[in-house]
Amino acid sequence: MSRRFFVESEIMGDRAFLAGSEAHHLSHVLRMDVGQHVTLFDGKGAEFTARIGRVRRSRVDLEVLDRAEISRELSFELILGVALPKGDRQRWLIEKAVELGVARVVPLITERGVAQPVKTATARLRRAVIEASKQCGRNQLMEISGPQSISDYVQTVTDSATRLMAHRSDDVDTSDHVARLAENSGQHQVYIAVGPEGGFSPQEANLAEENGWKLVSLGPRTLRVDTAALTLVALVATPEN
Ligand code: SAH
Repeated sequence: MSRRFFVESEIMGDRAFLAGSEAHHLSHVLRMDVGQHVTLFDGKGAEFTARIGRVRRSRVDLEVLDRAEISRELSFELILGVALPKGDRQRWLIEKAVELGVARVVPLITERGVAQPVKTATARLRRAVIEASKQCGRNQLMEISGPQSISDYVQTVTDSATRLMAHRSDDVDTSDHVARLAENSGQHQVYIAVGPEGGFSPQEANLAEENGWKLVSLGPRTLRVDTAALTLVALVATPEN
């Protein structure tokens, strides 16, 4: 796969251009030049082969040679509701969620969570989504929704979706392996929920169960939010690849 660049503007005909950090990456960091071939993606599912036509300070013009719809998505839609951790862990979690194929992250507002300033962070996180997509070959950008309360999140999911909530509790059934729960469901959508460092409250876990969510254990150790989220994502995503 040749070098990948994200194109913000819609590609029409055989002309495309890169601006901002993508142009900078191509010309200043990688020092690529006229005539070289690159791969462009638009974040909506399409991938393009293009030749560099002109390199200027903050703009690179390209000639599009080929367009293809290439999906490197999971075969089902995986939605991760998570009480986002702070700082570096947040960025790290977003990056790995992209790599593992999550379609959408929903930042959860929970009883025991510290609300994260998602609005200001969103632009930064979107950049992390783009960087991860460039690296891992995804042509569809992972979406980051606006924050949602855990009660809305667990109540608004359609009945046909698989719903798994990671919850540490002595009552949580560990006999059903998570991967099997997701695999056997044969559903097109899998929703998962991971709580804050303080955990989901018993009321939040009850509300989820009342709404058809299965509480799942990830073992006897207490995992950090980012570890728990990625473990659950990986377990669910593995059977499908
Ligand atoms: N203080 C909490 C742990 C919170 S860990 C407690 O003792 O219960 C943060 C989140 O990660 C939890 O809300 C849960 O969603 C998930 N998590 C961490 N370890 C887990 C485990 N062993 N099994 C299931 N979920 C876990």
